[in-house]
Amino acid sequence: MQNYPVVSRSLRQDGEARFRRPRPPWPGGARCVILLTIDFDGPSHDVGQGFTPLGARSTGRYSARRGVPRHLDMLDRLGVKASFFVPGYDAECNPEAVREIIARGHEVGAHGYLHERTLFPPEEEERRLTLTHDILTDLMGRPPVGWRSPSGQKTYTTLRVLSGLGYRYDCSDKDFDAPYMLDIGDGRQPFVEVANNTFSLDDHPWYHYSMTPVSEVEEAWRREFDAIYADQGYFLLSVHPRCGWGSGTPSRTAAMESVLSYALSHEGVVALTCAELAEWVRANSEHFEEVRI
Ligand SMILES: [Zn+2]
Repeated sequence: MQNYPVVSRSLRQDGEARFRRPRPPWPGGARCVILLTIDFDGPSHDVGQGFTPLGARSTGRYSARRGVPRHLDMLDRLGVKASFFVPGYDAECNPEAVREIIARGHEVGAHGYLHERTLFPPEEEERRLTLTHDILTDLMGRPPVGWRSPSGQKTYTTLRVLSGLGYRYDCSDKDFDAPYMLDIGDGRQPFVEVANNTFSLDDHPWYHYSMTPVSEVEEAWRREFDAIYADQGYFLLSVHPRCGWGSGTPSRTAAMESVLSYALSHEGVVALTCAELAEWVRANSEHFEEVRI
């Protein structure tokens, strides 16, 4: 196994350990924020592993052909703006899909080039991060401000490169159930970590590992929302517009719509993109945990 330097981190204690922080304030005095994050994960997912995205490996092509259009229509019906995380290779293969996501008012963030699942030496990692950054910037006419690790991993280099490119938040870590400030020690303005739960609030484990029926996934996500609404008020759902283990198909998109509609029917619920929430956290940083890496 490669042994590249990985991120280590420490809570900034400010003189005393905080066992539990109160619910942070949300924009507009909302009781609960909901965020829908959609990882494009098209053929990059397969090409990155050395497979040709045809035959049994063709499920990623469903994203641009069916899943993304279906998700966009669903979001229009709900009046919700989502954050799409797009690998650079998929953006190159499907520029019209990325333009449509932008035209419909959603956020596009970066998600690797070939959905890399391994760590690279610093120079190669910077080359890949910059490559996707340039592809998305050219397509969108403005640079992305958010990034999600395809593998959930980061090196000591990752966030420093992203910060230098102007990114303002990361949406990869699983270590909290609220966003928090991230001091990466590069002297620039602090990052925001938009922490995510890629186990119970992600379609991949349910549909890939446990082959759970869609009705049970929908019920599980409703229960997650109920508990979160009663607690910290931070509900972030991650899905994929693929077929196979994704949520691009009609019944699974309908399940998403049902859960989101249910959440939005509650008093004091506001739907935000990750970029919108990250800016709120930066502007109200005194209420949020700070972590130094
Ligand atoms: Zn992904």
